[in-house]
Amino acid sequence: MSRDTATERAIPLPPLSELHIDPHSYPDGVAFLDGQYLPMSQAKISVLDWGFLHSDATYDTVHVWDGRFFRLDLHLDRFFGGLEKLRMAIPFDRDSVAEILHDCVALSGHRAAYVEMLCTRGASPTFSRDPRQAINRFMAFAVPFGSVANAEQLRRGLNVAISDKVRIPPASVDPAIKNYHWLDLVRGLYDAYDRGAETALILDFNGNVAEGPGFNVFCVKDGKLSTPAVGVLPGITRRTVFDLCAEAGLSATAADVSVAALKAADEVFITSTAGGIMPVTVIDGIPVADRKVGAITSRLMALYWQRHADPAWSSPVSYSNSRK
Ligand code: PLP
Repeated sequence: MSRDTATERAIPLPPLSELHIDPHSYPDGVAFLDGQYLPMSQAKISVLDWGFLHSDATYDTVHVWDGRFFRLDLHLDRFFGGLEKLRMAIPFDRDSVAEILHDCVALSGHRAAYVEMLCTRGASPTFSRDPRQAINRFMAFAVPFGSVANAEQLRRGLNVAISDKVRIPPASVDPAIKNYHWLDLVRGLYDAYDRGAETALILDFNGNVAEGPGFNVFCVKDGKLSTPAVGVLPGITRRTVFDLCAEAGLSATAADVSVAALKAADEVFITSTAGGIMPVTVIDGIPVADRKVGAITSRLMALYWQRHADPAWSSPVSYSNSRK
């Protein structure tokens, strides 16, 4: 992608002085909304937007680590796939979206960032109930990198509770369309907090383990990995675990994972763009195996972060527009 002069740009960059950030109200970051780059504090949408009123939206989140996007192509594939399935259209092609994401990161100056692209159904000028009359709205933003697990949890493993809440079934909402239907996940989180856990896993419609708020889950038994096959977002980090396992000669399959199998595993970890591969060492108050972060989990965590410098899987952010 070219990072050319201002005259060749479809979208003008703002004077850097206008991107003053109020660190007390909003995360330090830059958004793209309605054709403009803005500080996060000014990135606002209408209360009549169907994205807000009906959760009618799709999005994707990619991260930047040490100044490089990680697997951006896969995130763009998933985002454009979601747009098509939801019959949404945006006035930007793939290269333009990539350019906007680069600009948000560059203008923010962050070298480790959480970068979101999203599209809402939008609003119709007449407040029509017909979604075809809504004007779809694309936006993007870059804020500091965040992780599901903090540094201490990464070291000692997360304490997770399995809630009895059921993830919205695929027959209702195709989980491959990354979406904001999170009421099931948020209810699961409150169940977990009530039980003294740090985060939650919820179930699929057959009572097997599905996923958690913003992450997939894997278990390791006798050296073999498995992760739930149905009713879950096909996570890019989950896919990366499959790719790393193929390279490392480890067996990894997508299959039903029962609650009992998860609790009897030798190792458990969760995966997300927000944090990568993160160990779980307590489930429902009971230690996973010996409560230590397992050898396979540790090995995959190391490989995962090593690959962030690999040009085959990562691409440098162009910081020529950086405000810092
Ligand atoms: N499952 C859900 C419900 C999510 O929202 C996410 C990420 O936000 C994931 C799984 C993990 O997906 P990825 O690895 O692409 O970040």
